[in-house]
Amino acid sequence: MKLTGNLLIGAHELSATAGSMKALNPATNAEIEPSFAFGGVAEVDRAARLADDAFDSYNNTTLDKRAAFLERIADGLDAIAPELAQRASLETGLPVAQLEAEAGKSATQFRQFAAVVRQGRFRQATIDPAQPERQPRARMDHRMQKIALGPVAIFGASNFPISYSVAGGDTASALAAGCPVVLKAHNAHPGASEMMARVIRQAVEDSGLHEGVFSLLRGGGNEIGEALVDHPLIKGVTFTGSEGGGMALYRRAQQRPDPIPVFTEMTSVNPTFVLPAALAARGRDIGDGFTERMLVTVGQACLKPAILLAIDGPGYAELRQAMIARVEAMHARTMLTPGISTAYRKNVERQRNAGAERIAAGGKAQGAWDGESILFEVDGAHMLEEPSLSEEVFGPAALLVRAKDIEQLVAIAKQFRGQLSATMQVDQADHALAARLLPVLERRTGRIVINAFAHPQEVSNASIHGGPFPATSDSRFTSVGTTSIERFLRPVCYQGFPDDLLPEALKRDNPRGIWRVIDGDLAKA
Ligand code: NAP
Repeated sequence: MKLTGNLLIGAHELSATAGSMKALNPATNAEIEPSFAFGGVAEVDRAARLADDAFDSYNNTTLDKRAAFLERIADGLDAIAPELAQRASLETGLPVAQLEAEAGKSATQFRQFAAVVRQGRFRQATIDPAQPERQPRARMDHRMQKIALGPVAIFGASNFPISYSVAGGDTASALAAGCPVVLKAHNAHPGASEMMARVIRQAVEDSGLHEGVFSLLRGGGNEIGEALVDHPLIKGVTFTGSEGGGMALYRRAQQRPDPIPVFTEMTSVNPTFVLPAALAARGRDIGDGFTERMLVTVGQACLKPAILLAIDGPGYAELRQAMIARVEAMHARTMLTPGISTAYRKNVERQRNAGAERIAAGGKAQGAWDGESILFEVDGAHMLEEPSLSEEVFGPAALLVRAKDIEQLVAIAKQFRGQLSATMQVDQADHALAARLLPVLERRTGRIVINAFAHPQEVSNASIHGGPFPATSDSRFTSVGTTSIERFLRPVCYQGFPDDLLPEALKRDNPRGIWRVIDGDLAKA
């Protein structure tokens, strides 16, 4: 696919109005052609207005037409997957095979949302029929369904340049809900971003949709992101990245004259708790499995298991040794961007200064932005004194915590901030202790895993990729899985409506045969 580096605003292509950039190959530190245009406040305004123009027609497409549009995007992603993975690999240093798998995951997400749209259950149609005879007051007919929020701004993430980026789950779920999308591309992979944007634009055209359903913007600095969050026609925002960036955008949105929801996914260390019987029986395997997952994608995954906590006793030495062996065997690998690599080195220093002992290191960095793998250890008492040790180190580093007993383990668990996931490694004899830990974890995390690791994440109906702050800014929602569509919906009640004015999901004869709640009971009638 030929890349122009233009901004893609609806069907229009715009060259730079506010400077430009070239992508950086972080493995070689060399720039890659072509130049990519930056836009500014005027381009945000143009994209937001087009998105607003598109809203009514897009929100009212038939469900079949919207589903077919999502499937076209999936087909388009499949068609460019090898080329997309090659370009994304050049821009991120991640392996091509991993990125091809990501492209497949993205296509799957669009197909899953097409199925969700066809089923129509996302409307959550709920009907309380009229009760004209009710005493002391008659009840009018009430019908509720969920509709799209409006045009939304999506910030592409850096760490999964396909499946959390332009054609990622945020875009798929927003489009499924009926929201036109203005996408702020991440500057870490501008070429891959343009490729995915072109696939979506082509699907918009082939589906006969309003051009404003999708636009791609790019900018240098915070101006463009701030303008998007401020724009009065933007009605919701999603973001994946740093806590500082996410919270700056969140606070900004709350200061608008009309505050809007901002769904940020920011930081998580995904603690793993190893209970005594499991440690004694499987210490070596648990240490090895944990470290293998920790090192995936150079430790730059939101679900990276970063902290392992175990009670000192039989199996601890084997677990520790297995972790050391895995880390020492790992060569240094290219990190996503100079900024992320620099932050990693700084955060490793922070852990050391906070009293964590470095017990293993992998191969030395060869390239400028390589990340060396590191394992720290600390005892439970020190962990309790230094809560900063439980902050994220984004990159291939982990912390092993040696607790003295279950009381100390639970006390440390209570000290964790909100998490995307937590894991317990347990055998049958550990169940009483696990039951004690469980309520502590439930209050702090969106997903609890037993005898596996949180990464990789299943993308399904029951998936939750969310959790209390600072894992996300709104623990009521997930950013992965089919229920992530709920971030982009709001309820509307239609009271006393004649049938011909009712939306399709609420009509009396239920023409699409969708599941609805009628007088409190689930029915397909
Ligand atoms: P980031 O710095 O938070 O940036 C993410 C996106 O938001 C970029 O497009 C950025 O634009 C924009 N942005 C950030 N702050 C903004 C602000 N105040 N106003 C307007 N726009 C803003 O994240 P990153 O570049 O991907 O990585 C930096 C760090 O984030 C990593 O070292 C890591 O600690 C963390 N991170 C965590 C996760 C996770 O899932 N836990 C994932 C990715 C990153 P510009 O690039 O143009 O500034």
